Amino acid sequence: MPPSSVFVPRRPLIVATGNPGKLQELRALLADLPFDLHGLGELGAVSPEETGASFLENALLKARHAAAAAGVAAIADDSGLEVDALGGAPGIFSARYAGAGADDAANNAKLLDALAGMCSEQRRARYRCALVFVFEPSDTAPLIAEGVWEGTIVDTPRGSGGFGYDPYFWLPDLGVTAAQLNLSDKNRLSHRGIAMRALRDQLVARERLARDAPTVRP
Ligand code: IMP
Repeated sequence: MPPSSVFVPRRPLIVATGNPGKLQELRALLADLPFDLHGLGELGAVSPEETGASFLENALLKARHAAAAAGVAAIADDSGLEVDALGGAPGIFSARYAGAGADDAANNAKLLDALAGMCSEQRRARYRCALVFVFEPSDTAPLIAEGVWEGTIVDTPRGSGGFGYDPYFWLPDLGVTAAQLNLSDKNRLSHRGIAMRALRDQLVARERLARDAPTVRP
């Protein structure tokens, strides 16, 4: 039997999110890998405070926290919007741009206020996503992937899909906002989709290495 068909037992993998949509998306993407994905909520564990100074630091601390809570491998993401004219704001504060507990409408209103009177060149923006996989809480070689999606911020909302800043996130090449895309097109183009596929490639390579490595006998 060639090494590629050796049976590999399935292992649990915790996804550090309370968002069922993200869990579902990851399940679909990693379906052919030997992992059983579970949300952090299934453990009754709470999310840690996001005290990192970057998307990557926040994703790392969430992944380590989930791995420690579950005692198994974990995956976490952190993402947000960066606007050039605002020096990269709202950035890691995207979810709470208008204050703790702010909703999408309040965050968007603050964003449009901050950009009032600016031309489209100054409204260039991007969504960024950092995604991290740790095999254990103290993993010193986590798998890391990043995705970036470029656009500009417009004043008039368009579309009813997506969430957050999507109705104002204009994609000049397509002539639509992110909120006008259907879910599968958004996943194909988005920062999160790009990061997830990049992480998947790393995981596949790592699983292949582990599976094909010769067994060392004492
Ligand atoms: P999270 O990392 O998925 O929790 O996202 C943090 C915040 O970034 C969200 O609350 C949104 O404000 C913003 N954000 C991240 N990704 C997207 C997206 O795909 N569309 C719209 N807003 C997003």
